[in-house]
Amino acid sequence: HPTYIGPDKVLEKRKQYFFPCTHHFYQDPPQIVQGSMHKLIDHTGKEYTDFFAGVSVVACGHCNEHITTKTIEQLTKLQHTTTIYLTEPMVELAERLANDYLPGELKRTFFCNSGSEANEGALLLARLHTKRKDFLALEYGLHGRTFLTMGVTGMPMWRTDDYLDPHVTFIPRPYDEEMDTEDAAHRSIAALRQVLAEKGDTFAAMIVEPIQGNGGIIVPPDWYLREVKALLSEYGVLLIADEIQTGFGRTGRMFAMDHYEIAPDIITMAKALGNGVPIGAFATTDAIAASFNRPSASTFGGNPVSAATAMAVLDYIEQEQLVARSAELGGQLKDGLRALQVKHSVIADVRGKGLMVGAELNTGEASLNAALTDRVLESMKHRGYLIGKNGVGRNVLAFQPPLIMPEDEIQTMLSVLDEVLSEAVYTDEERGSKDGRDS
Ligand code: PMP
Repeated sequence: HPTYIGPDKVLEKRKQYFFPCTHHFYQDPPQIVQGSMHKLIDHTGKEYTDFFAGVSVVACGHCNEHITTKTIEQLTKLQHTTTIYLTEPMVELAERLANDYLPGELKRTFFCNSGSEANEGALLLARLHTKRKDFLALEYGLHGRTFLTMGVTGMPMWRTDDYLDPHVTFIPRPYDEEMDTEDAAHRSIAALRQVLAEKGDTFAAMIVEPIQGNGGIIVPPDWYLREVKALLSEYGVLLIADEIQTGFGRTGRMFAMDHYEIAPDIITMAKALGNGVPIGAFATTDAIAASFNRPSASTFGGNPVSAATAMAVLDYIEQEQLVARSAELGGQLKDGLRALQVKHSVIADVRGKGLMVGAELNTGEASLNAALTDRVLESMKHRGYLIGKNGVGRNVLAFQPPLIMPEDEIQTMLSVLDEVLSEAVYTDEERGSKDGRDS
């Protein structure tokens, strides 16, 4: 049995050798040493059922041998060379994305290494194509951690710069706790219409997550992005769909944009495409791609190992029909959470598509919500279930498991969550002051 230094030492080293921006969940974060499909194992051998999949990354399961076999095969044959020479996996992958999966007329792909880099490239492409400088983005979106992608990130906790980028205008998102979603979506459209009427010809693009992930799993009404796209088109502003979290079956369609039956001008991808191996990409139409014609290359973008892995991921998604499975299991998960909502009034809302589902917790006192959410996460972890959290107030339980999650695990997790919500909702002290509101 290998010996590990243990979570306390890992944390200590993080504190000593990392930047203070390093971030983790849990009072006592587990040290994960192994993964196997929907399971993660910590340094003591304790098993966890993973309902977060490394934030929607490991859609095909941890260390899935159908995929790792292909990764290792490529790793031992040709690991890396430069795009100055020709390699096959990256062109095969681009061809496959264009012919089988990308929405609308999106046919050309540029490979890079992460979500941030994909969005950065997409924003640059929009500037090159439109010869305009400014961007539109939604409040509480998250698009990355590089200079420009942080500039279009509307989620305050993920902005580490104190100065808002002067080239970015934020539009209210199609959601507001205090409002009906349809009304919030209409308000968002009205704000967009007004900004475009004022200075529509200054914007290169609007970047949106078709379903906001970190912002709290926000699903707009089906008409919303169609309306956004139509408005943007009037002013020659491109629509960039950030599908970094939603892509590759997560929401029950290959891409979330497929739900809305429109194609963006540019789509960005990362996370699940590599199932844990780093890869990013942005794709667009022939006409828009034509504007990016000066020499540009990424050292590792489209490297044979990542490209071969991504193709194995696509094969596995097909073979196991994971897109349909995501829709089916997501429905079961949402129904189960809605049933819990009837019993536990602290669940204020259940929302999502496919296996991207959020349950918003609201105690009635905003200041208690985040602590309560943490307590639920901690108790779930204790009982062997890892779930995520997100949302502006960090009070949304996030369920984004590998798409291969066995059906019975969903039901078991729901009954464990039922117990946890019954027991761990309030501390004794809080319970005293809230007698009768919830149990
Ligand atoms: N866009 C979205 C929607 C994301 O969720 C994330 C990461 N959580 C990113 C972009 C940034 O991706 P990366 O961390 O790979 O740079």
